[in-house]
Amino acid sequence: MKIKYLGTAAAEGTPALFCSCEICEKARRLGGKNIRTRSQTLINDDLLIDFPADTYMHVLDYGLDLRKIKTLLITHGHDDHFYPFDLVYRCSPVYAVFPDNGFSKKPLELYLTRNSGKIMRPYFKKEKVKRDKNAININYIKKFKSFVSNGYTVTPLRASHAKFLDPVIYIIQKDNKAVLYAHDSGYFPEDSWNYIRQSKIVFDFVSLDCTSTLKDEAYEYHMGLKACCDVKSRLIKEGGANKNTIFFVNHFSHNGKTVYDDLKPLAEQYGFNVSYDGLEIEF
Ligand SMILES: [Zn+2]
Ligand SMILES: [Zn+2]
Ligand SMILES: [Zn+2]
Repeated sequence: MKIKYLGTAAAEGTPALFCSCEICEKARRLGGKNIRTRSQTLINDDLLIDFPADTYMHVLDYGLDLRKIKTLLITHGHDDHFYPFDLVYRCSPVYAVFPDNGFSKKPLELYLTRNSGKIMRPYFKKEKVKRDKNAININYIKKFKSFVSNGYTVTPLRASHAKFLDPVIYIIQKDNKAVLYAHDSGYFPEDSWNYIRQSKIVFDFVSLDCTSTLKDEAYEYHMGLKACCDVKSRLIKEGGANKNTIFFVNHFSHNGKTVYDDLKPLAEQYGFNVSYDGLEIEF
């Protein structure tokens, strides 16, 4: 399985759009891996997690080919994870031509909770786009109910995040590999822990929300490095991870008070890799 981090920032990006704080200035000065766009991750070349406004930038900068995507999982309806307006450009031949013999004849399978889906309505309505039934198929998901999409078994679990959106974190399994993608979330709710324990899944790859990075008190809504360490320890203790599990921290904000270059050596001490835009991992 291949995982490519396309965007690794929280909502405001790093540097944040209008910000002059010490962290944003440092990120501007250092450049490279310290620059982060909004949250998006590619699995192999056909499953995409989240669809922020920076998707087009990921197409241009990282060769993301949206025509190959068969499954689009949305974690929740915050705009750094879901910007539905750009999906409109798949829904009419005015914007997207599908070749007769091409790979885009089948609809893009979009998965999200009903609450997160509510934010799509005005976008589609406003543009008065006549939706092509081959363009997008909307699937409303339920927490703790697995589904299969294009050979991936996907299970949404409850996230500790903006409740009104009914946000989820995802277990994604294919070819005997299992990924836990936990964005955005604070320390996991107990029913999600129960599911993980009872499923007996041992994850090969775990990506944890580290928005609040160096803020020790961050356990709710988002996590900091300390909470990520607690999740990692509990996963190992309860059998959901072992010494072969690859752990990443991801989804960073200037409010976390650090940049990639400074965080990397610190996170490594706790057994975490640090994500950056464009990073690809195969396992
Ligand atoms: Zn976010
Ligand atoms: Zn800032
Ligand atoms: Zn969020």
